[in-house]
Parts: sequence; C-alpha cells; structure tokens
Amino acid sequence: MMPQDEPKFDELYRELILDHYRYPHNRGVLEKPDVDMQQHNPVCGDEIRLTAIIEDGTISQIEFMGQGCSISQASASMLTDRVTGLELTDVDALSVEFRNMLRGDDPDEQMMQDLMALQGVSKYPVRVKCAVLAWDTLQKALKLK
Ligand code: ZN
Repeated sequence: MMPQDEPKFDELYRELILDHYRYPHNRGVLEKPDVDMQQHNPVCGDEIRLTAIIEDGTISQIEFMGQGCSISQASASMLTDRVTGLELTDVDALSVEFRNMLRGDDPDEQMMQDLMALQGVSKYPVRVKCAVLAWDTLQKALKLK
C-alpha cells in the first residue's frame, strides 16, 4: 500500500510546519471575544476553536485551541499569524486564495508567504480538509461564507 496519507514536503516547509505544530503561535482562548467558533474534521479527528476580537472591521486579536494532526494545527497557527491586523475583506481574499492553492491552483506567492508551506497538501485530497479546517472555521465565524 502506498503511504498516500503522509504528504511529502520540501525540507524547509516540513520544518516550518513541525515548528508551528510543536510551538503554536497565538494558542489560547480570548476573554469576551467578538467571535467564537468551533469546527471539526471527522475524517482525521482534528478540532479547531477560534476566538477573535474585531475592531473597526479588522481582526485585532485572534487565538486558537485545538487538537489533531500536525497539518491542521500548524495551519491554524499560521492562520492566526497572518490574519492578525487584517481587514475582514483581506481575510476573505486570503481565505479564497488559500483554498484555491489547495485545490491545485498556482498561488500568488507574495500573498501566501509562509502559507506556501502547505501547498504540498494539495496533492493529498484527504489531507486538504486538515489544512483548510482553521480557514473554514474563520470564514464561518466571520460569516464570510
Ligand atoms: Zn488532520
């Protein structure tokens, strides 16, 4: 049987993903958040909860809690880094670009930055759900989809 469930990443990207998994950024639950949303991916058992403070149409603070595979947790950690300080319209655009990348589209590397690390997941349809879980949760929390 082919080990098709374990994506192969470039060494640099693999390190980045493992680093976010081992030392997640913005991990926690905010007090009195404006949005509080929890989602799970039953295929893999991943769970993500996001809490965020929205001020003047901008995400001023966001934290995540969760458990699951390294891809789901690293993706959530990267998401919190990227969307802090972003206007909601930019969050929406970034979410769409991220999803398109995982569907196999050529991403805008300038826009994706560190999120490029997850591009390799697009070759593993089962794991795409892991990578988009945090983005799904955010879009749902912000009613962007
Ligand atoms: Zn997973």
